[in-house]
Amino acid sequence: MHHDRISGPWQRYGNHFVLEEAPDHALPPDMTDPQAAMRIIAEDLVLDGIPERNLATFVTTWMEPEAQRIIAENLHRNFIDHAEYPQTAEIEQRCIRMLASLFNAPGETTGARTQGSSEAIMLGALSMKWKWRERREAAGADTSKPNIVFGGDVHVVWEKFCRYFDVEPRIVPLQPHKFTIGPEDVEPHVDENTIGVAAVLGTTFTGHADDIVGINDLLIALKHKNGLDVPLHVDAASGGFVWPFLYPHSEWDFRLEQVRSINVSGHKFGMVYPGIGWLVFREKSDLAEDLVFYENYLGKTDATFTLNFSTGSAMVLAQYYNFIRLGHEGYKLAIGAMESNARFLAERLEQVGPFEIVGAGEEQLPLVAFRLADGQDLGYDEFDIAWQVAAERGWMLPAYTMPPKAEHVKMLRALVKLNLTRPLVATLADDIAAACETLAKKGGASQAERQQVKTGVGY
Ligand SMILES: *Cc1c(COP(=O)(O)O)cnc(C)c1O
Repeated sequence: MHHDRISGPWQRYGNHFVLEEAPDHALPPDMTDPQAAMRIIAEDLVLDGIPERNLATFVTTWMEPEAQRIIAENLHRNFIDHAEYPQTAEIEQRCIRMLASLFNAPGETTGARTQGSSEAIMLGALSMKWKWRERREAAGADTSKPNIVFGGDVHVVWEKFCRYFDVEPRIVPLQPHKFTIGPEDVEPHVDENTIGVAAVLGTTFTGHADDIVGINDLLIALKHKNGLDVPLHVDAASGGFVWPFLYPHSEWDFRLEQVRSINVSGHKFGMVYPGIGWLVFREKSDLAEDLVFYENYLGKTDATFTLNFSTGSAMVLAQYYNFIRLGHEGYKLAIGAMESNARFLAERLEQVGPFEIVGAGEEQLPLVAFRLADGQDLGYDEFDIAWQVAAERGWMLPAYTMPPKAEHVKMLRALVKLNLTRPLVATLADDIAAACETLAKKGGASQAERQQVKTGVGY
């Protein structure tokens, strides 16, 4: 077969995989011409969902052609080679300074480019662990039982951090009607072994924020009462690019005294393609010095604070492109448009179905979290709707259950990003209504159908 490829008609046609299986176990013994290799990948991917119809993801699915060009032209630039690419390193620092200023850092600060919020959170939480140990060692106290406090509304990365880096998670369960946490939830869990508290600005479940002001006040009160100086880390993966533009007067960032570090995903509402996150400290001293590695490389000293090493520069440059291109005005315009379309979708959904919009009127990410109103027995549920609307129109609308103590609550959630324009929002609402009508007639999706629902909670 392989010899036929070289000279046969399918070779001349441009794709011998028309009649061959895809290589999937071992490296193929022979070379394949570039066109056929490209085509088989493109053909495989038609089975994936269409990213623009992915209502589950927070991550950017569209960038301007100019940004795409910057990305395409810089794929060969290894970000870690600071000595060879000093301007790329400088651009990273510019981005960090811009974010520190956006988050109201009081003075000079430090931070890092990361692969996403997950790496940023690992690094930020590690710094809290190291700082806690320094404080305990200075006091001659035990350092064997670190814990960290957060709510059941956090992203899975926080539990991952605890397992990977051996810290006891103290997870505040949610309540059937309360999907974020506040100071009263946190207080019973904080003690002298608490390395820090994590609060979320814009949860993945409903897009709302924990009571960060309240938690900050609690930690300040504890500091004055018994001298425990517990830092607050804000997980602003999604909210960090939303709150400054939609709710500029709402305090959640370095304006609050105990907020010592913040992470944000550049690839979510920073509007860059996947592969970029940021960690910003309040002050230089909030980064544990021990975690910074100094290397002498080609005669220059380079400081690194990352879990990875070699990685692309393209998304850092794309982030800087967005910062320049959009500025404060552009981000406000874009995020404002998403918010306005999200409110429009919420209104339409209330008109077309027996839906309850979750936390409407509260500060929230540009999304609609909704569920079938309580007390309705319709013969179908949220998971059926997700299946039906995917079957009828290809929308990937996630259905999921909430975390512990609220796990009987089923939820649907649609992210409203910039590519979901007003006409598409109107169509989406009609499509959800149509799916409900189908379900009302046929009485729910079958078990087999429900198992085909592709989307989980979605990130
Ligand atoms: C998406 C998300 C994360 C993880 O971020 P990545 O950038 O995907 O690594 C963490 N926390 C929250 C609240 C998120 O929404």
